[in-house]
Amino acid sequence: MNTTCKVPELFGSMVFNESVMKDRLPKDTFRALKKTIREGLPLDEAVANVVASAMKDWALSKGATHFTHWFQPMTGIPAEKHDSFISPNDDGTVLMEFSGKELIKGEPDASSFPSGGLRATFEARGYTAWDPTSYAFVKDGTLYIPTAFCSYNGEILDKKTPLLRSMDAISKQACRVLKLFGKDCKRVTTTVGPEQEYFLINESDYKQREDLILTGRTLFGAMPPKGQEMDDHYFGAIRPRVAAFMAELDQELWRLGVLSKTKHNEVAPCQHELAPIFSTTNIATDHNQLTMETMKRVAKRHGFVCLLHEKPFDGVNGSGKHNNWSLSTDSGENLLEPGSTPASNKQFLLFLTAIIKAVDEYQDLLRISVASAGNDHRLGANEAPPAIVSMFVGDEIEAILEAIEAGQTHTDVDKTMMRIGVSVLPPIPKDTTDRNRTSPFAFTGNKFEFRMPGSTLNIACTNIMLNTAVAEELRQFADELSAAVDFDSALAALIQRETKAHKHIIFNGNGYSEDWPAEAEKRGLLNLRSTPDAIPYYTSDKNVNLFQRHGVYTRIEMESRCEILAEEYVKTLHIEALTMLDMLKKQIIPAVIAYSKDLADTVAVKKSIGVDAPVELAMVKALTEKTAALVEQQSNIETVVLAAPADSQTAPRYYHDTVIPAMEAARKIADELEMMVGEAHWPIPTYSKILYYV
Ligand code: ADP
Ligand code: MG
Repeated sequence: MNTTCKVPELFGSMVFNESVMKDRLPKDTFRALKKTIREGLPLDEAVANVVASAMKDWALSKGATHFTHWFQPMTGIPAEKHDSFISPNDDGTVLMEFSGKELIKGEPDASSFPSGGLRATFEARGYTAWDPTSYAFVKDGTLYIPTAFCSYNGEILDKKTPLLRSMDAISKQACRVLKLFGKDCKRVTTTVGPEQEYFLINESDYKQREDLILTGRTLFGAMPPKGQEMDDHYFGAIRPRVAAFMAELDQELWRLGVLSKTKHNEVAPCQHELAPIFSTTNIATDHNQLTMETMKRVAKRHGFVCLLHEKPFDGVNGSGKHNNWSLSTDSGENLLEPGSTPASNKQFLLFLTAIIKAVDEYQDLLRISVASAGNDHRLGANEAPPAIVSMFVGDEIEAILEAIEAGQTHTDVDKTMMRIGVSVLPPIPKDTTDRNRTSPFAFTGNKFEFRMPGSTLNIACTNIMLNTAVAEELRQFADELSAAVDFDSALAALIQRETKAHKHIIFNGNGYSEDWPAEAEKRGLLNLRSTPDAIPYYTSDKNVNLFQRHGVYTRIEMESRCEILAEEYVKTLHIEALTMLDMLKKQIIPAVIAYSKDLADTVAVKKSIGVDAPVELAMVKALTEKTAALVEQQSNIETVVLAAPADSQTAPRYYHDTVIPAMEAARKIADELEMMVGEAHWPIPTYSKILYYV
């Protein structure tokens, strides 16, 4: 790829963005489309026909022959089915055609996507609908049309639809609140910048590891002599091969309009990060999906494999995805930017209070939004935030909140007002130095950074929960304040009351410390250590009421999502257990036996010439004993997997409590054997080899 190309020309060159639309669409069509995008109205079919035709001509000019409705089913992994533009003529030739109908609506056969019981198999058809707020683009000869995915009964079957609904919900409530501050705002959007961590390893190593191929993580592997204790990888110089990968990745992403901005090495060996410039949440979500996929594709061209699993290597830091989140008005005001005037500080504090209350009241949902078998390895493992949801607001803001709270003892309303409104509230300094890296939900100057999401997560999940929870608090605040006689004193009282009620969620200390779980328990915070711990909270009345009230999910839709989460968890562990058995039987145990045989042969040969072989003999005995122990653990895995319940109610807990410990026990012995068997005999690349390639 040409590395000297001009970035501005490259950027978005494969995207049907506003500038292309302006160029290629008649003025009235362009205006109608923009109105649709801005106001979320359905697109008129006549307009859609004109847009489709222009889009097709543009796509053909970019080398496209096909189009696809690109959607994100409930698995979170984007799905696509490609149709060519060809349409036959009578004379045996073809035309390239694309209608408005095809643009707006598609009907993929949806029967194989998980629906959590929502869609009976005989009604397998769902449909996809264009989301004009996310630009179409051309990739590998296909025009990609970002779409939402629903069943014919109208139930949502994807992650985009609820995300768009949650964005509408928070926009509506935030606009109501802003109105109370005298601002006429039509739309508040949530913005997200997801920082993406990943591992790059040699494809040749990957290909020799069935566990990496089938499960995305290593199920065996003794710790290498050197781990990450030297802290020499973080922000270290980027290896030339990796740099070449990163350069090509940037170019591919820029072409697709992804605002790839920052790249660096991460804490673990072979671990790296990419951060984009933030954008509107649904675009950030689409772009993050594209980023992950592009990483995998480009890695192959460089002889690498990109691992997006949350914990590819035991004992080495796993990968997360920081969800930087804020709210921005249609005039570009960042609502989480602390103001420099007392009046705007009041507004800032009200939004801050809503977020604090939301995070506290919906801790369970935030935890659920990041729950997966893979992420369970990270949370609380001294590398990622604990499984306890808490917030970091920084010293200055905490001091302000404390002052507000203390003001409660003053009966003098004026004084209370003063505390919130003027004198004790200096312009709030932007907190850039005092970063708390151990907090799951940290205020970082003008946005919140949610650090619990795992690296493979579709960030729609997290943002649906966050947007809707904050929408609810803003709704309550708007209701209360719009009914107040004296806005300022009602505002002061509200901030004071809610700060007091929810301050237990604020924790500025070290989230990795051993004392924190005990302290959190004292505070009454949830500590949902694993996915099975979190699942039962999903469909509580409190949570169902939240989503129903804001029109994001119905109870049935939530139940189906909960079921899919449980199923995915169980399937993941089931595949891991079977993969482990396969590797034990076909690779590890035979290798140990072969090595033992070599040693035993040596003993016999030495003995035949009258030489003692005490070392070899001791090794054979030790290996034989350990192999027997390993075989016992192997059959234990078989037994517990066979006995696993099939229903999604009890299976997650069973896999967590019974299958995981069985796998851990087998791994422990296998890893010990790895240290005893000669390198030439060990059948799979070791951690040292994989992590310290040159
Ligand atoms: P770090 O957390 O590594 O110090 P930064 O604070 O510079 O990095 O930014 C991290 C991410 O936060 C970037 O993706 C950036 O675009 C994003 N970000 C910055 N401002 C906002 C905002 N207002 N809304 C959402 N994301 C934002
Ligand atoms: Mg960060």
